[in-house]
Amino acid sequence: MESTSKERRYGVGGDNGTIPENKRCCVQPIIQTGRATLVTLQCNRPRGHGPNGLYCETHARSRGSKA
Ligand SMILES: [Zn+2]
Repeated sequence: MESTSKERRYGVGGDNGTIPENKRCCVQPIIQTGRATLVTLQCNRPRGHGPNGLYCETHARSRGSKA
């Protein structure tokens, strides 16, 4: 079961960040390296691939069949 009501977040703290999901973009969090705390940014490629069409082509492929 996958909850569709939960809004994804990015930024400082990853899922607990302050940046809301851009519903036109791939949902894959991009972890920013070189930071003391976890900071993520949403992938800025257009979605439309992978599970529920939530991923860009690149991330849908990288997730493989294990999704
Ligand atoms: Zn992506």
